[in-house]
Amino acid sequence: MTDRYQDFASTSLGRMLVKSLGLPDPVRLDRYVAGSPLVDGIVVVGGTGRLADQVPAILDRLGVTRTDAPEEGARYRGLVFDATGLRDPGSLVALRDFFGPLMRSLDRCARLVVVGTPPERLQGAERVAQRALEGFTRSLGKEVGRGGTAQLVYVAEGAEGAVGSTVGFLLSPKSAYVSGQVIRVGARVLQPAEEPDWRRPLVGKVALVTGAARGIGEQISRVLARDGATVVGVDVPQAASDLIGLARQLDGDYLTLDITAKDAPKRIAQHLTASHGGVDVVVHNAGITRDRRLANLDPERWRSVLDVNLVAPERITDELLAQQVVHANGRIVGVASIAGIAGNLGQTSYATSKAGVIGLVDALRDTLDRDITVNAVAPGFIETAMTAAMPFGPREVGRRLNSLSQGGLPVDVAETVAWFADPASTAVTGNVVRVCGQMLLGA
Ligand code: NAD
Repeated sequence: MTDRYQDFASTSLGRMLVKSLGLPDPVRLDRYVAGSPLVDGIVVVGGTGRLADQVPAILDRLGVTRTDAPEEGARYRGLVFDATGLRDPGSLVALRDFFGPLMRSLDRCARLVVVGTPPERLQGAERVAQRALEGFTRSLGKEVGRGGTAQLVYVAEGAEGAVGSTVGFLLSPKSAYVSGQVIRVGARVLQPAEEPDWRRPLVGKVALVTGAARGIGEQISRVLARDGATVVGVDVPQAASDLIGLARQLDGDYLTLDITAKDAPKRIAQHLTASHGGVDVVVHNAGITRDRRLANLDPERWRSVLDVNLVAPERITDELLAQQVVHANGRIVGVASIAGIAGNLGQTSYATSKAGVIGLVDALRDTLDRDITVNAVAPGFIETAMTAAMPFGPREVGRRLNSLSQGGLPVDVAETVAWFADPASTAVTGNVVRVCGQMLLGA
């Protein structure tokens, strides 16, 4: 649905009022358009650490213009700072020295990325310094303004060669609604990442998307197909006509079933094996809400939410892994929610199910083999039929209470899923990345 406040704020009268009254300023976010360069503008690279050679090499490979000598009067689209060399709190001033003078030279929708070492692997002063990066980056996300974002990427030692897809995603408009996130790369032993063409990284891959007929699932299907995947969409029989229409448009395939049915995991596994020889990317997107305060929540509502959102993804994943339907370097992606992190009034069942999705990521990440990864997105306020149905007050609050002062779009969730799905993201596992514009709720 349209955001009327955003429409008004982009008129000349609206701009004047926003500025003089200090109102939220929901800048129109740049989003990736197929065929465009990954980054439209210059990226400044700074810092001295383990990735000092890697980051420039990644940018060159992705065709991104870069400099390590910013000039007065120039405008910059992105800043990347390698902070892995900061070994004690005193050295953190390097963050100020790099970012401070550049903050007024940023294009709109700028992308700021800090790279660090996972503190849990360090000791003493170095651990303190690396942990401190989180507060810096999250504040940067709140200060950058004009549609800009900031993220921290903790890269484990040995994973320096496996950060390309992550740096590319975070510098590009694909991460329009992702901000203030702490992302871990290389949490477990890894093989060298595949390096496909970033424009079509999923060519030759098969992707299963549940709840594909509409909303976020439809966009996930479109983006994965844009990136080259053959998409197999799953949805309930009642949604068959939308699902079949989408499958035709995307030159993909479909399966109509209720994912909570007893035989659903077997049917999905059989279909993927018989028609596609297996699957590379599994996206558990189908989800429902049956909101009621706990005092009014009947067992049936509780059960249906838990069954669709948590039990079904768990059963389907188990079956696909047990039958080895998921190929090596496969991807399992859950769709959690900000409610699963912060909790929400009237959503005990939903929040339980979505926190459980995060639990699935935690439970699987150390047990998966053959370079199969598991991650989840946790969307915040996304403009869909679900949020359009909210009463005006909570809807406006949900939209504005984030660093970008607006709701996200289904495509923002889809692009994040596509980054997880990228064959080059082998080292990206165990993450729960919020697609929430740095919402004020939750950790
Ligand atoms: P939606 O209701 O528009 O679409 C969900 C799809 O899943 C529908 O096509 C539906 O038919 C399908 N589905 C539901 N139950 C199913 C079942 N038993 N078997 C097969 N398919 C089934 O929802 P959406 O807003 O696009 O949300 C998609 C996912 O994102 C959900 O997991 C939701 O919880 C999550 N999410 C959404 C938001 C938001 O703001 N919209 C925020 C956080 C998380």
